[in-house]
Amino acid sequence: MYFIVMEVASQNFALKGDIAYSKTQTRLETFENSYLVCEKGKSAGVFPRLPEAFAGFPLIDYTGRLILPGLTDLHMHAPQFSFRSLGMDLELLSWLEKHAFPEEAKYRDAEYARLAYGLLTEHLKRSPNTRFCIFATIHVPATVILMDLLEESGLVSMVGKVNMDRNSPDILREADAETSAAATREWLTALADRNYKNTYPILTPRFIPSCSDDLMAALARIQKHCAAAHSPRALPLQSHLSENQREIAWVRELCPEAGCYGDAYARHDLFGAEIPTIMAHCVWSGEEELRLMRSRGVYIAHCPQSNLNISSGIAPVRRFLDMGIPTGLGSDVAGGVHTSIFRAMTDAIGVSKLRQCLVAKDEAPITFEEAFWMGTLGGGSFFGKAGLPGNAGATGSFDPGYEFDALVIDDADLAAPFSLSVEERLRRTVYLSDDRHIVAKYVRGNLI
Ligand SMILES: [Zn+2]
Repeated sequence: MYFIVMEVASQNFALKGDIAYSKTQTRLETFENSYLVCEKGKSAGVFPRLPEAFAGFPLIDYTGRLILPGLTDLHMHAPQFSFRSLGMDLELLSWLEKHAFPEEAKYRDAEYARLAYGLLTEHLKRSPNTRFCIFATIHVPATVILMDLLEESGLVSMVGKVNMDRNSPDILREADAETSAAATREWLTALADRNYKNTYPILTPRFIPSCSDDLMAALARIQKHCAAAHSPRALPLQSHLSENQREIAWVRELCPEAGCYGDAYARHDLFGAEIPTIMAHCVWSGEEELRLMRSRGVYIAHCPQSNLNISSGIAPVRRFLDMGIPTGLGSDVAGGVHTSIFRAMTDAIGVSKLRQCLVAKDEAPITFEEAFWMGTLGGGSFFGKAGLPGNAGATGSFDPGYEFDALVIDDADLAAPFSLSVEERLRRTVYLSDDRHIVAKYVRGNLI
């Protein structure tokens, strides 16, 4: 990739080029040869001619190139990046035992973490994604190293030290609820004097089977304590939900009093409402669970590539969208192999077609417009819900007021022997581009 190196003196500037973004969940807007203005790190809108008010802003001319919103990855496992693509032909349990658990255990070694997370961060800088919600491991020093590296990169992320005190391999199990909660408090304390601008903690119980009731109760206390101390800023939460049927049956045994899997989080006050929450997968969520998510504003991280590789099922995304449940896309590295959310968009369309063909004839496949929306504004809006400090807010749109995350794409080598509209060039870019097509990447108005 050949990022253009230039100093943008302030976060006030304008870009000129062919611009595309999602106006709504079902509608794309495109603008040929137009101006996109960044004012104090936020979009001031798209204009056919540069308005007088912005005439003094530096103009960066990307004529003939595409300008798109940055992409948001709502779900990935940082320690699994190192072995992505290995063992993809194994069945889930063998894959966990051979690759996932032994690799995650290595992060107790801070030097190993620094090496592995350094490779990950360099990779993410070059990717089309600008925002991330990330699982680290149970290890406090390694999690802080990851957060330091992400902060240095200029990318915006929420990162979680993982909690797991039961039903986990010995090498990855915290001794008991209090040990796990104490490590979480230690981690939050270590972050307090770091003054990150772009990196935020997110509570991360791995999933109900690996977290005892005592641990969930302790995490709820930590969450409430933070909410009280930093009001109105809430400590958000991420976890997994209803990925496969055996897991759901297991949760029913572990929490017989819960009405559904989601209710097992809700009973501990760790499921949306006041707490910005992301749940990954939701492949088998039933009516009761989906209604609970909608009423509490819980976000779903749809991970289509993981639906294929892990093969627990295909998530009913048409239902998520029709019900109005906030939904974004996740790479689920390393259940997914590719970090690019462009790839997640194309996989989301593909698996939704398979779902209609094989599982649910009455569920229409999702459209390109919907896939692009999920990968940009759908996931990017979570960063506005989380009430973050520093006037941080949602991204993924170029409407005025959204934080300015943008990609400039040189799609010249994706040309056709006939002329392509801006929308067709966008579709080509989503399906065919890679990191080498990215000419520039802006995050919160800063050139990465
Ligand atoms: Zn996951």
